[in-house]
Amino acid sequence: MGETALCTIAKKTDNGIKPENMHDIPGTTWKIPPKQAEDLNIPDLFILPQYSDVKDNPHDFSLAHSIIAKNQNPFTGKTLMQRHPKTVIVQNPPSLPLKTHEMDQIYDLPYQREKHPSYKEEIPALIPVRFSVISHRGCYGNCNFCALSMHQGSIIQSRSRESILLEIASFQKMSGFSGIVSDVGGPSANMYMDFCPNWEKKGVCTDKECTRCPSLKTGIYGYLDLLDEAEKLPGVKHVYIGSGLRYDLIPTDQDFLKKISRHISGQMKVAPEHITRTVTKTMNKPAGEVFDQFRKAFEKSQEGRRSRQYLVPYLMSGHPGCTIADMISLAEYLRDKGLYTEQVQDFTPTPLTTSTCMYATGLNPSTGKPVHVPKGREKKIQRAILHWRNSAHYSLVLEGLTIAGRKDLIGNKAGCLISARKIGEIRAKRKKNQNP
Ligand code: SF4
Repeated sequence: MGETALCTIAKKTDNGIKPENMHDIPGTTWKIPPKQAEDLNIPDLFILPQYSDVKDNPHDFSLAHSIIAKNQNPFTGKTLMQRHPKTVIVQNPPSLPLKTHEMDQIYDLPYQREKHPSYKEEIPALIPVRFSVISHRGCYGNCNFCALSMHQGSIIQSRSRESILLEIASFQKMSGFSGIVSDVGGPSANMYMDFCPNWEKKGVCTDKECTRCPSLKTGIYGYLDLLDEAEKLPGVKHVYIGSGLRYDLIPTDQDFLKKISRHISGQMKVAPEHITRTVTKTMNKPAGEVFDQFRKAFEKSQEGRRSRQYLVPYLMSGHPGCTIADMISLAEYLRDKGLYTEQVQDFTPTPLTTSTCMYATGLNPSTGKPVHVPKGREKKIQRAILHWRNSAHYSLVLEGLTIAGRKDLIGNKAGCLISARKIGEIRAKRKKNQNP
């Protein structure tokens, strides 16, 4: 995402400017000795809590995170400065979003779609992406555990339809192309060509969510047309959507669902992440009811089909704000709807996300209030609960159900998550270990 900054640095270097004097390039960060920071004269400079305070004080960490997050808008973001023991770090506002013709210039470059010649062996990771196409950058979903808006921004930057079709057309001359395009997508595939007039002048609003805003102009019908058109290109048999879809932005009329299903290779990947209200709110995801409505509409669209598609929900355990009881509610939902899945991600803190801030500080930066943070054994139990069928997780699931007072889910009745029979086995095993 650094093309604009990189080209500016190259031009300045050509003009004889030294890198240490390049302080005005959007999207870059630079450092200076603490003494020089006294004389800095930058309009709209915002000073973050210093590193030593952020390190030791959760409130300062939380405050620093909120300031950084609020200044990611390329139109209104301020320059940020933070003192460290031996240096001072200055971060310029982000680069302006790329226009369609700039995106085209980047993606029209003659990429080889091959492993580097230094590799003699097959690279498995290349296989699923070799004939996939990037349609856009950015995501306005603002999920709290995701850092994407920090590096690609919240504004959708789309390539032109022509540029994407030309790229797909070029595959037919390449060895190894079987006619299958595995993906045309971006961070959320169905945000291609989404647009709001505000994005061009002042960026994304900080007080509203684009996902629920009537000003957002959807590009999803054009996206579907693009996929259909790409399938008509010579040598192309199928064009699939391999990237995740933002299900709350997919029209749920049956006609549309049937059409988009044609571009799904067996499994539609969606990411409700959780189902209980407190957890989805802490993640900044749509409420569980929204997912359930989509699930019902999707299931209806598959009725009577000979080769049906399946909905694969991506789920997360151990997110801040999530308790063992929440995970049990999620497990019950999956059990009742027949959605048992191995696709469970245990929350992992990654730099600069709001969820990581909660994990590190125990505070929700949007409310300033304490938030429950599962760690250690509780985190393991949460993860195990979603894999309740896996006998290797039996003791952890048992422990979780016992802690949450849900022994009604232990037994041989329909609906129980684990059998009671094994309790006897475990006790016998423990006894045996105690009295060898
Ligand atoms: S007006 Fe709505 S769609 Fe446009 S930037 Fe603001 S919240 Fe997003």
